[in-house]
Amino acid sequence: MRLIILLVIIYLCYRALKSWMIQDKSPQKTVFGKTAGEIEDDLIKDPFCEVYFSKRDGVHMKVEGEDLYFCSTECRDKFVASHSKK
Ligand SMILES: [Zn+2]
Repeated sequence: MRLIILLVIIYLCYRALKSWMIQDKSPQKTVFGKTAGEIEDDLIKDPFCEVYFSKRDGVHMKVEGEDLYFCSTECRDKFVASHSKK
């Protein structure tokens, strides 16, 4: 009976090790998948939340002839709302 328990433990260890090995060798999903062009892209500041982000990812809006970029549509909407209250 003890032997069976031992075998089960060994089997579980083997499976755990195997799944770990598979995970380790999984197709390389490059974290740095960005192209040089994206890295060189301008960093701009969100006029509402003052967060820096890539211009490419920004939400563009023209305010009084000025190009503004926001980190999200949420910030853009809040910016518009805060400015329309004037
Ligand atoms: Zn923002």
